[in-house]
Amino acid sequence: MSSVSSSLASTLKRLQNKVAIITGGASGIGASTARVFHGNGAKVVIADIQDNKGKSLAEELGPNASFIHCDVSNENDVRNLVDSTTAKQGKLDIMYNNAGILGSTMSSIPDKTKFEIDQVIGVNLVGSMFGAKHAARVMMSQRNGCILFTASVCTAISGLLASNAYVASKYGILGLTKNLAAELGPYGIRVNCVSPYAVATPMAAPDQSKASELEESWAKMSNLKGESLKAEGVANAALYLASDEANYVGRESGNFNRRSKRIGATTA
Ligand code: NAD
Repeated sequence: MSSVSSSLASTLKRLQNKVAIITGGASGIGASTARVFHGNGAKVVIADIQDNKGKSLAEELGPNASFIHCDVSNENDVRNLVDSTTAKQGKLDIMYNNAGILGSTMSSIPDKTKFEIDQVIGVNLVGSMFGAKHAARVMMSQRNGCILFTASVCTAISGLLASNAYVASKYGILGLTKNLAAELGPYGIRVNCVSPYAVATPMAAPDQSKASELEESWAKMSNLKGESLKAEGVANAALYLASDEANYVGRESGNFNRRSKRIGATTA
């Protein structure tokens, strides 16, 4: 590679030397994001409960990639994830709270068990909140950072084949994103979420032999002109939000927070 093209390649690395944690990083959207972030110069920590998949992705990516076992619904695991990453790397730039589960799409509300509701809300919403809580602890003292979440298209379109606990958890992610952007903006922390349409990951297409069939039918239902959304498409959106180019995205409502404090109002 010539020196001109190698310096061009390094300027194109949009997350050079940033430290990023990606929960649910062993599979689907999280695994694609780990690849895209790593390819853009980030030091990535893949956090998941699927140890074998997570470890082998970290090995495949090589230097600057590692795996940590973390059940996001367990606060001690999340605390350890953030503390061990910060102890090793000296900082935390990006916390992508992406881990999620779908719950049963076959049962209707009268048949929902407390166990399922707790599990889905516990991973998708409470788990994301633990991630934000422990990342914010570090980022507030750094006075910078980027927190990302994965919401879902089910917050924009009703009646999709998604469990109602799942839909509730993803609406919770939207609220959390907005509120944290206001709360953490004054500390230089940006908070955003991606809200993907259907992607044929193991979560949405557990029988992966039917993945392309499903992608085709989802593409027809969308305005993507027959083109299906891939995990990498979501990862690229996360890349933009994590990069310095999005410096003004996800902090605007922080001004609202400051203003409302000044006039003694409460935010709702
Ligand atoms: P996926 O199943 O391929 O990946 C989810 C990952 O999360 C898996 O590796 C899984 O092991 C991990 N995970 C599950 N529970 C966990 C826990 N308690 N702690 C840590 N990790 C855990 O699915 P995906 O489609 O890539 O899902 C990623 C995110 O995208 C989820 O939040 C999901 O709700 C969201 N999403 C997906 C779609 C879609 O159509 N695939 C659409 C909108 C939003």
